[in-house]
Amino acid sequence: MTNPLLQPWTGAFALPPFAEIRDADFAPAFEAALAEARAHVAAIAGSSQPASFANTIEALELAEETLDRVSAVFFNLAGAESTPEREALQRDLAPKLAAFASEVTMNAGLFARIEALWAARDTLGLNAEQARVLELYRRMFVRAGAALDAAGRARMATVKERLAVLSTAFTQNLLADERDWALPLAETDLVGLPEFVVATAKAAAEERGAEGHMLTLNRSLVVPFLQFSPRRDLRETAYAAWVARGENGGATDNRAIATEILALREERAKLLGYESFAAYKLEPEMAKTPEAVRDLLMRVWEPAKARAETDAAVLTAMMHADGINGDLEAWDWRYYAEKRRLAEHELDEGELKPYFGLETMIEAAFDCAARLFGLAFRPLDVALYHPDARAWEVTRGGNHVAVFIGDYFARASKRSGAWCSSFRSQRKLGAEQRPVVVNVCNFAKPARGEPALLSWDDARTLFHEFGHALHAMLSDVTYGFIAGTSVARDFVELPSQLYEHWLDVPEVLDRFARHARTGAPIPAALRDRLLAASTYDQGFATVEYVASALVDLAFHDGTAPADPMAVQADILAGIGMPHAIRMRHATPHFAHVFAGDGYSSGYYSYMWSEVMDADAFEAFRESGDAFDPATARRLEANILSAGGSREAEDLYTAFRGRMPGVEPLLKGRGLLDEIASERA
Ligand SMILES: [Zn+2]
Repeated sequence: MTNPLLQPWTGAFALPPFAEIRDADFAPAFEAALAEARAHVAAIAGSSQPASFANTIEALELAEETLDRVSAVFFNLAGAESTPEREALQRDLAPKLAAFASEVTMNAGLFARIEALWAARDTLGLNAEQARVLELYRRMFVRAGAALDAAGRARMATVKERLAVLSTAFTQNLLADERDWALPLAETDLVGLPEFVVATAKAAAEERGAEGHMLTLNRSLVVPFLQFSPRRDLRETAYAAWVARGENGGATDNRAIATEILALREERAKLLGYESFAAYKLEPEMAKTPEAVRDLLMRVWEPAKARAETDAAVLTAMMHADGINGDLEAWDWRYYAEKRRLAEHELDEGELKPYFGLETMIEAAFDCAARLFGLAFRPLDVALYHPDARAWEVTRGGNHVAVFIGDYFARASKRSGAWCSSFRSQRKLGAEQRPVVVNVCNFAKPARGEPALLSWDDARTLFHEFGHALHAMLSDVTYGFIAGTSVARDFVELPSQLYEHWLDVPEVLDRFARHARTGAPIPAALRDRLLAASTYDQGFATVEYVASALVDLAFHDGTAPADPMAVQADILAGIGMPHAIRMRHATPHFAHVFAGDGYSSGYYSYMWSEVMDADAFEAFRESGDAFDPATARRLEANILSAGGSREAEDLYTAFRGRMPGVEPLLKGRGLLDEIASERA
């Protein structure tokens, strides 16, 4: 029998033939793809021809094509639609793929060819993109340990394989803890909850094959529950379960895994001669050093903490007025903040919610892309990997640009959070390849027959992930190595966070925030109250984020902690963490940092990018038109289409003419006056 993963994909847009792929196809496909990649790499390394850019770098660009294709399908499914079989295969594959990656970057013959090219780089007649790709390849090899002696290379490979095993276990434990917890809610437990929360709890029960209503640890359910439930006892129970993910003892506990990961990362950095993992990790980023990261975070921390403390006093008084004495606790914050929002801004999430239907918000995200970049979206009737996933063809001027897949609803088989990834990335080398990009979210699925409604936060998430998708879809480079989102980690959130700003544009809300049942546009007064409240509770949001970023940085800057939980507690005490706010992600469920390497000592990246996105949207404001064509063209030319073709700072400067300061960020979060009052 032929394996559909290994055959040419000849269907519409060369999409993976999801309907034909069976789980049993993956293991043999990986085996064949790895063997093919190994043979290609060996041929490149062992070539008797002198090294040239074409026979070394370009050949490497194409060497792992089958493996990339199989991996993209498998890992997208493992994240969005996991099964016990896929989880087992993922555990089996993680060390094998890590070993293969090490084999390539530690291949002495290959590295010698890259070094020869690097030494001769000025005489090779390379264009700017080629020179950049050569530089990045060499950097990747050196940073992976290619220049180490044999013993060092062997140890590095062992360390990386073990890290791959550990991060897979971390992810799977987290998924298990999220999946295994559910709290049946009796009719009396639903008192005070808005209709949409009740509907979500009903859908959650339905999904688990139960009658009635159920609370789960999905963010789109547990957060609104914490916002609205007047039942302090239930809020405490739900909150405790939510923050205990990965910390429940037993087989799914992540604490020992985190400890081992941190120790191995330190060893990895030291093998390469860096004083810490943070120093190693930050070198190729915009921030460059741990000091620069800490400096930014602490400049934001103080005003955010001051705001949070003022807010905590107000919320505590509200709670005391309810007849509840003692301290405001973490499970009280959202509830009283919601009440205060209603009182001060007359903004009720329940009143707002019907205006943010999933369908109209997708339309809104598409329409902004049409106005800014001339893109058009046409629904496709193709088989995907789950009935809830949908696809569109993206075109411009009638020309194919990309396929976009949206997979929006939470389900037990999907890992938590929201992300953008690709089934295929853009490149022009060989035959031009256009991208297939997917946005995966965890929005609450409505009960049967009900419209899907988003919270304001969910709507922002939809725009955020779509911003990443644009970065991938508008990519226009020759080499896949630098395509789309292959940029510095602290630059990659710029397109996504920038895109969120268009959701705040009044004319976008007027057109697309329409009542899910009546179709009536959002009343102007409600819209204005929504926008006026945009900086509401930013003390809380900033504190929970910055605390997580500081803990992440501390874990990787210096000696790896023997007891990360103790270090976490020390850091929080040291910065004076407000009593009623916890880290946005505590260590045992901090997937950004432990589910892979991506955001390790890099959680600050969102804020680093926010410095730029706040300033970048100012460029549109300054033009007087949120859709100014000239500014949009500069954005596409210098950032969205450019991938990693130049240093991030150069890309930004080409777009804006200069680098920004931290003020637009503080202004955007409504924290500038905190600085003024501190100075006063
Ligand atoms: Zn993002």
